[in-house]
Amino acid sequence: MEKIRMDNPIVEMDGDEMTRIIWKMIKEKLIFPFVDANLVYYDLSIQNRDKTDDEITREAALAIKKHKVGVKCATITPNADRVKEYNLKKQWKSPNATIRAILDGTVFRTPIFVKNIRPFVRTWKKPITIARHAYGDVYKNAEIRTQGAGVAEIVFRSNDGKEEKKIIHEFSGGGIVQGIHNTDESIRNFAKSCFTFALDQKKDLWFSTKDTISKTYDAHFRNIFEEEYEKSYRKEFEKNGLTYFFTLIDDAVARVIRSEGGFVWACKNYDGDVMSDMVAAASGSLAMMSSVLVSPNGEFEYEAAHGTVQRQYYRHMKGEKTSTNSMATIFAWAGALEKRGELDGNDKLARFARALRESAVECIESGIMTGDLARLAEPKAESVSTEEFIDAVKEHLEKKVEGL
Ligand code: NAP
Ligand code: MG
Repeated sequence: MEKIRMDNPIVEMDGDEMTRIIWKMIKEKLIFPFVDANLVYYDLSIQNRDKTDDEITREAALAIKKHKVGVKCATITPNADRVKEYNLKKQWKSPNATIRAILDGTVFRTPIFVKNIRPFVRTWKKPITIARHAYGDVYKNAEIRTQGAGVAEIVFRSNDGKEEKKIIHEFSGGGIVQGIHNTDESIRNFAKSCFTFALDQKKDLWFSTKDTISKTYDAHFRNIFEEEYEKSYRKEFEKNGLTYFFTLIDDAVARVIRSEGGFVWACKNYDGDVMSDMVAAASGSLAMMSSVLVSPNGEFEYEAAHGTVQRQYYRHMKGEKTSTNSMATIFAWAGALEKRGELDGNDKLARFARALRESAVECIESGIMTGDLARLAEPKAESVSTEEFIDAVKEHLEKKVEGL
């Protein structure tokens, strides 16, 4: 077979530990034999980030801005132990945080469904994507533990000298106070990313806040979403038969549990933190969670939601057999290749990407899977090694590629 051409590049960001091992296998066994890969390579390993004073992460993010599509391997976010382990100059920031700050994007997480692993929520037939706003609210708060009687106030002093003040509470004894904020710009970018992603995936978009109680703060989120929808997205949604649906967060939770799934659920920062763990756990396994960062300007960065699978890496280094699940990383590559194909009008590349994804799913559905899934599958399955799984996906892929 002639290799599939790629006109424009994908920004490739290599990473750490076990996922770096998987990364190389995926490229060599599942991509390079079929695609004449056009990649701009950035090595985001902890060693190289340390060597370049993390400049490499910034460069990679700027490259995504330029080329519009990136794919990233899991990376170590160093803590004190890692600084010792890798003899680092300092505790570098999380690469994901650096990239997100530069692209100003929203992260969308979607569980990968296979027939032989049933979600714990019986009604779910299709995966639910959680879009979590990644700025502000309780994550950038100011808190005070107050002692004794007194008044807590909230004040806004504008640069032109005006002041607005409200009483939060008149305390008669000790208590606690918290101030939180968000910005129009961040909320608007969040809304744009959500509408863009829902259209891209041809899925309905749900958004929920507590605007009945928080009549200014949460209502502002709702208003900005509505403004953006009316201004820029309603026509496209209607053309595609899609719905934008706002409801109260508690109503949303009840509806989500009773739903069949298959939609995007946009959540404020805290709600998204909690609900994404709920959706992930109820769907089966962290290793089956795919993730994409979508910027308000339509740049896409694909990755797995899990980390570097550290313990299995140590086993691998001792020469022991591992059984690391490469599904989410395969889906990241498939997502990036499909998007590249779509943006370039390269239908063959997009079809290859879908074939790659289908091959991986079929492989698990035929009973071949790594240890994390073998425990959950019905019927129970034997687990295969890290490499045996990727080899099995390759067998399925070879058959499919003939028909492309
Ligand atoms: P982790 O690597 O996601 O592992 C958490 C747990 O899930 C472990 O118990 C692991 O299995 C299991 N697991 C995760 N992915 C798996 C896979 N593909 N196949 C099989 N089992 C899988 O998270 P962590 O241990 O908290 O963090 C390890 C490193 O990853 C840290 O340095 C952290 O900074 C980094 N991290 C990076 C990202 C990212 O780049 N996006 C995200 C999260 C964490 P075992 O029981 O076999 O160990
Ligand atoms: Mg959480």
